[in-house]
Amino acid sequence: MARTIIDCHNHPNWHGHDVDALVRNMDEHGIATTWLLAWDISQKEYEQACPDYYRFMDPRGVAAPLDLVLDGVRRYPDRFIGGWAPDPRDRWARARFQAAVEIHRIRVYGELKCRLRFDDPDAIAMYRLCGKLGTPVLFHLQCAPSAVEEQAKSVTSWVEWYGGDLRVIETICRLCPDTAFIGHGPGFWREMSADCDLDPSAYPTGPVTAAGQLVEVLRRCPNLHCDISAGSGANGIGRDLDHGRRFCEEFQDRVLFGRDFFDRQQMDVLDKLQLGETVLEKIYHLNAARLVTK
Ligand SMILES: [Zn+2]
Repeated sequence: MARTIIDCHNHPNWHGHDVDALVRNMDEHGIATTWLLAWDISQKEYEQACPDYYRFMDPRGVAAPLDLVLDGVRRYPDRFIGGWAPDPRDRWARARFQAAVEIHRIRVYGELKCRLRFDDPDAIAMYRLCGKLGTPVLFHLQCAPSAVEEQAKSVTSWVEWYGGDLRVIETICRLCPDTAFIGHGPGFWREMSADCDLDPSAYPTGPVTAAGQLVEVLRRCPNLHCDISAGSGANGIGRDLDHGRRFCEEFQDRVLFGRDFFDRQQMDVLDKLQLGETVLEKIYHLNAARLVTK
């Protein structure tokens, strides 16, 4: 019998795919449901930090606005679950998010990806609301020590960063115990190995020498989950297959399958890990289904 698959991380109208093409792509990959996530970021920040995205995302707006998500969910209500993370610094972000949950059935606060320490007081207030509304918080973490050094190098340098480091994530998990957090991005997965600071690259490769901060923080924070989407997630669990297998077994109730693209990179890695069927069922759909009620 074919496995049920939920992709917990994709976006509307990017890399040449409108939502019709995304649904065709999901069919090709046997994916039943995708969390269709907006990306809310100010134009100023987008232009300074990541202008290349203008080539790959919908030219009608900045990044992936809420409207595109709602359009996708309206057309394919059985295939998409909508996500939106308004910048928590906006004065009315919480009120607007609650309205989006009630009016448009937005079920995820994500993808949170803006130039903000994620333990900012406005963000904490947002996560507390998410805990009350039952919407998980899916964030993109990217802020290696080398980026901090690069940013400080000259008065004109401008490095792309999001969220802070894993200490920030432990703080928010402790401050908001009733909120489910889902981590993603190079800053999250690079911490798989304890020696990650010796490797300045965003995607450290090779064997995991000793359990990194990610493992430690997951052990201490039961409300923290992992999204294996993108190159960062696939590399995180695939760089050392023995360690990746043990990681997925230990955190089998908190690892979620996701792609953040249109290929089967994460499926190939999961195949290589040779996990048991019970664990795979959790990773491919049960964990995601538990965090989001339709
Ligand atoms: Zn994404």
